[in-house]
Amino acid sequence: LYRSEFLFLNSLPALPSEDEQTRVFEQVADAAGKHGATIRTFDLGGDKLPLGRYESEQNPALGQRALRLALGSPDVFRTHVRAILRASARGSVRILFPMVAHVEEMRSARAVVASCMAELDAEGVPFDRRIAVGAMIEVPSAVLVADQLASECDFFSIGTNDLIQYLLAVDRSNQHVAPMFAPLHPSVLRALRRVIEASDAAGIPSIVCGEMASDPVHVAMLVGLGYDRLSMTPTSIPLIKRVISAIDRGQAVELAGEALA
Ligand code: PEP
Ligand code: MG
Repeated sequence: LYRSEFLFLNSLPALPSEDEQTRVFEQVADAAGKHGATIRTFDLGGDKLPLGRYESEQNPALGQRALRLALGSPDVFRTHVRAILRASARGSVRILFPMVAHVEEMRSARAVVASCMAELDAEGVPFDRRIAVGAMIEVPSAVLVADQLASECDFFSIGTNDLIQYLLAVDRSNQHVAPMFAPLHPSVLRALRRVIEASDAAGIPSIVCGEMASDPVHVAMLVGLGYDRLSMTPTSIPLIKRVISAIDRGQAVELAGEALA
C-alpha cells in the first residue's frame, strides 16, 4: 500500500505535477514487481495534510478528508488518477480510494477513472485498462453497505486505524482517549466479520491494513475471522510470518467465534 499523500507532503507548498507523480508511481510499480502495488489516492485533510489553502474545520476527521476532498477538487484529482493510470503501463498497480462512505462516492470515483482513461486513449497514452479499483473500508457506513459496495469494487482494503476510530468514536491521535481505542471491541470484530462475508460472497479479496494487521495477538483474531491477506510495514513481516505459521486455523476460528459472541 503506497500512501500517496506523502508525495504531496514532499512537494509542499506546490502540488506535484502529473509527470512527477507518474515517475514516483512508476518507481513504486518497479519496486513491487510482479506482486503489484496498491496506490491509494491522496488521503489529505483530517489529521493528515491539508490540500492547498487550509480552511480550518471544527471536526477535521469528519470533514473534507480523503476521497471527499478529491471529488471536491476535480483538477487535482484527475491529475493524480492520470498519473496512476500512466504508471500502470509500466508495472502492475491497483487504485484504492480512501474514506468511502457512500456507494455513490465509489461510483463517482470510478467515473473519474473511466473519464481519465478515455482522455489518455484520445492522447494515445498507454495504461492498463483492466486496472483493479478498490475501496478502503474504514467508515462504519461502508461496513453496513459492504455488500452493495462490493459490486462496485475489485477489492476491499480495510483501514482498521480509521474504522476503530469511527466505530468507537475515539480520536486516533488523541492521547487522552488512547486506552479506549480497542481493536478487539466486539463491534470491531463484528464489522470485520461482516466485511469478509460481503467480499467472499462477491468473490473479491479483502486486505486488512492498519496497525491491527501487524499486531501478533490481533493477527490470530484476523485469521480466525477468515482473513488471509494482511498489509503492514516491511519490518513487521518476519514476526507476523512466524506468528501465522504457528497459528492453528481451527483454534483461531474457535477463538474468533467466542469473541464475536
Ligand atoms: C487505516 O486507516 O487503517 C489505514 C490503513 O490508513 P491510514 O492509517 O493511513 O489512515
Ligand atoms: Mg485510514
